Amino acid sequence: MARVNDHYLKLTASYLFTEIARRVRAFQETRPKAKIIRLGIGDVTQPLPPAVIQALHAAVDEMGRPETFRGYGPEPGYEFLQTLIAKHDYGERGVTVGLEEIFVSDGAKSDTGNIQEIFAADGAIALTDPVYPVYMDSNVMAGRAGTAGADGRYDRVVYLPCVAENGFEPPLPDRPVDLVYLCFPNNPTGAVLGRPALRRWVDWARRHGAVLLYDAAYEAYIREPDVPHSIYEIEGAREVAIEFRSFSKTAGFTGTRCAFTVVPKDVQGRDAAGAPVSLNALWLRRQSTKFNGVPYLIQRAAAAVYTDEGRRQVRAIVDYYMDNARVIREGLEAAGLTVYGGRNAPYLWVKTPPGLSSWDFFDKLLGEAHVVGTPGSGFGPSGEGYFRLTAFGRREQTAEAVERIKTRLRL
Ligand code: PLP
Repeated sequence: MARVNDHYLKLTASYLFTEIARRVRAFQETRPKAKIIRLGIGDVTQPLPPAVIQALHAAVDEMGRPETFRGYGPEPGYEFLQTLIAKHDYGERGVTVGLEEIFVSDGAKSDTGNIQEIFAADGAIALTDPVYPVYMDSNVMAGRAGTAGADGRYDRVVYLPCVAENGFEPPLPDRPVDLVYLCFPNNPTGAVLGRPALRRWVDWARRHGAVLLYDAAYEAYIREPDVPHSIYEIEGAREVAIEFRSFSKTAGFTGTRCAFTVVPKDVQGRDAAGAPVSLNALWLRRQSTKFNGVPYLIQRAAAAVYTDEGRRQVRAIVDYYMDNARVIREGLEAAGLTVYGGRNAPYLWVKTPPGLSSWDFFDKLLGEAHVVGTPGSGFGPSGEGYFRLTAFGRREQTAEAVERIKTRLRL
């Protein structure tokens, strides 16, 4: 028998969503007529914008004609899309990003999961707690996280607790680390980092020779004008940060798959002898070897997001979800709950009432309001005592769920 990668055996079971499904099933068996509303989903519900559909149709026709057919494309993406990204996502914010620094991909999940491959297997990582689980699990698989103790904490990971007491702003690591995963606007807390906080991180990374892996998949949800959309809005960030973006939650690409990662030419790692190595060159090599690029059709669809009508339509989708976020926040606050997030992010992070754990609150919400959310403890130890709701539902269902919480939840 072939020997397996032992590190995979160190993954803690993905207990969260299976346990949610089990409890919902058990509840539905006892109350078959109850109409359950899910406000826990991380997937979007609005369809692709018309500009994207039109671009897809046109690209399909191109693929059917010999003179416009495309086969293998450039692995880092077609220049037409890289140019639009550089101009609109960065140029319009006063940030210069070169086309060779933009790597179009099939998702921020793949990129945030794969990026660790270009770093040493014995490097040290720091993660915010609670966290998007992909950052952790991809490092467990690579052997970089160590082993989980009885409390579920991996012994080689530096956890950066983000809780109400510190405004959900991660503290700087208290020991040397090579990589820090930051995600803002944050999933699951809905928190954002302002300019001073982001500058503190960039300055720290420059001082300590660390690399920041900055997941900005939700930047389109930022409403406050002084919150940076890109880490490169901070001086010096090009030397220390890799940024991840996605079309998933803005333009409805969760099933269509397109994202991109920016690896500046200025950001470097070092080899065993301490000599600098270009991370851009390593990522290009990694992607060219293991990835064949995003389909032409999909890149044309993504390009349509940057047309005037595409931008208008995407803004309308984001506004729709943000209005859901407002409805949830106002409703829950009226019910007497403390709610964080939801102002610059599609996630609401609810403090569970005194004496109730994340799972206790899950059972209470399901039992009394027939609403399903996600227990905060599923995102990491510091998520205990919190509960995540998302704004990605349909309007009527979201409004009904909130009404039920207001009228039926006994707090
Ligand atoms: N990053 C964060 C923080 C997310 O919450 C998600 C999706 O839920 C992703 C990345 C994945 O994005 P994509 O659909 O581009 O793979």
